[in-house]
Amino acid sequence: MQRAAAEFSPELVEQATSASRSRLQKALDAVHAPVQHERFAVYERRSRLKLAQSLQDDPQRQRRVLASMCRPCFYIVRLAGAAITHQPCMLCDQNQTYPSTATDVLCLPCATARHLCKRCGADLRALQEAAR
Ligand SMILES: [Zn+2]
Ligand SMILES: [Zn+2]
Repeated sequence: MQRAAAEFSPELVEQATSASRSRLQKALDAVHAPVQHERFAVYERRSRLKLAQSLQDDPQRQRRVLASMCRPCFYIVRLAGAAITHQPCMLCDQNQTYPSTATDVLCLPCATARHLCKRCGADLRALQEAAR
């Protein structure tokens, strides 16, 4: 016991543990990296299939129509900056307030009255015809 302690100086122990720590880390990285890539791939596949299914089936049709939005604008999640943003409606010029930088081109009254997508301005009736 005493002999063993004499053989391992603090420097040696430090060298050995840091070397084995980095070896261990490399081994862990190698083991976990493919798992994370697979998880990401599985998640991506599922979420894109789900989106495609929603674009096809329009499962929240009532909510979407009430929001006066086309299918892509309603179902595709937009990336946005977290900042209160003001933007005038393209038709009536009334200033609109949004909780993020993801704004819509029209206000809800203008969009609903003209059957346009509030977000992108697409003609919702023309889209309905095209989907048939
Ligand atoms: Zn308007
Ligand atoms: Zn749209």
